[in-house]
Amino acid sequence: MKIIGVTGGIGSGKSTACREFELLGAKVIDADKVAHKVSEKGGSAYDELAGYFGKDILLESGELDRKKLAKIVFSDRKKLSVLNEITHKHIFDEMQREVALSKEDVVVLDVPLLFSPDFQIKCNLTIAIIADEEKRIKRVMERDGLSREEVAARIQNQLSNEEYKKLADICIVNNNIEEMRNAVHEIYNNVRR
Ligand code: ATP
Repeated sequence: MKIIGVTGGIGSGKSTACREFELLGAKVIDADKVAHKVSEKGGSAYDELAGYFGKDILLESGELDRKKLAKIVFSDRKKLSVLNEITHKHIFDEMQREVALSKEDVVVLDVPLLFSPDFQIKCNLTIAIIADEEKRIKRVMERDGLSREEVAARIQNQLSNEEYKKLADICIVNNNIEEMRNAVHEIYNNVRR
């Protein structure tokens, strides 16, 4: 089995690229989905999150108000690092478990924080998806209904395109969907060879 780690900033197109890998037959494990799973009521990180952030971030049902939590942490670095401290271990343990259960030849991990020291899953290849900042802002404004300022603040809290380029084995520029697809196909074929 080959493990590919895919990363990139908000709106770069990580999930879109991972979907392409999936269409080719890869198993995709999405860190955001796993984060959702471990932080829902009854999940392994829930009690600690509710304990630290308090009732303010809970809906009446007791589930996390994810939009509220995202707003809080994306405008406060200290709170973002506490959120990460609480959740990372649970997320990465669960991802590791899902990798171990996978039967596919290629497993793709969609991980915004692939280069965080907390991320310890060994990848055969790391890919950074990058795209022009203006394109990313427009995509996320459209997708999530956020303001330009909210998206820009989130981009500021993440690595720059240049930093991603330095850290990853391969960089895919996703300014154009066809070019991104072609790059994914080529990488998938090479990895399986
Ligand atoms: P996030 O970090 O916020 O989860 P992401 O990196 O996973 O984002 P996607 O969700 O894949 O990014 O893409 C963001 C939005 O941009 C989506 O609505 C997607 O359909 C769109 N998109 C992705 N790639 C392209 C492209 N090449 N051209 C136009 N739109 C694109």
